[in-house]
Amino acid sequence: SGAQAQGKELVVATDTAFVPFEFKQGNTYVGFDVDLWAAIAKELNLKYKLQPMDFNGIIPGLQTKNIDAALAGITIRDDRKKVIDFSDPYYESGLAILVSDKNTDIKDAKSLAGKTVAVKTGTATVDFLRAQVPDAKLKLFPNIDNAYLELATGRVDAAVHDTPNVQYYANTAGKGRVRVIGSVKSGDFYGIAFPKGSELVPQVNKALATLKANGQYDAIYEKWFGKKP
Ligand code: GLN
Repeated sequence: SGAQAQGKELVVATDTAFVPFEFKQGNTYVGFDVDLWAAIAKELNLKYKLQPMDFNGIIPGLQTKNIDAALAGITIRDDRKKVIDFSDPYYESGLAILVSDKNTDIKDAKSLAGKTVAVKTGTATVDFLRAQVPDAKLKLFPNIDNAYLELATGRVDAAVHDTPNVQYYANTAGKGRVRVIGSVKSGDFYGIAFPKGSELVPQVNKALATLKANGQYDAIYEKWFGKKP
């Protein structure tokens, strides 16, 4: 087995904008997911091309097998496991709230009730807020950068998204203008996603284990997130 995956150029989807996992720098995509996949592909002798796309297109693309694999900080969930396969978890995550540094009344998820909240289409955040804070008015954006712009211009009260992305944004582009309230949810795990039944799943799990054992995973982690606590 493995002959098929090794024989062709795989289409590997990433998100268009999800700092610091995948984002455009000049004309190329860089980030934690990009480096992690490069190391896995080297380990398994795979040829591939990256295909950045809006997050909400990724799971449908895997279901129709237009995509061979996807890394987009995709949260492993039972409902998604019904339609796609996941690798072993590779990153622990959660959700956080981003507000303007002038905001004083938003303190936790509950205080988002009645507020206008920018979120990203098709993400776990949308389901979380609909279940936990049904009175929040959600404004959906396919690209989270536009949600953060909306917050910067004061057209929404808050944005909610994955903790590492919110934190990275607050420390870079949003520095001095925004404040992070988090984590409102923890214990989420990202997995690499595949079409159901993909022969790549066991191969990628083996490669992930190798990279964790030989220090390459930690080196990539530290490059993007600093030393592990
Ligand atoms: N972790 C989020 C989810 O799976 C999405 C992350 C992202 O925006 N790429 O729903």
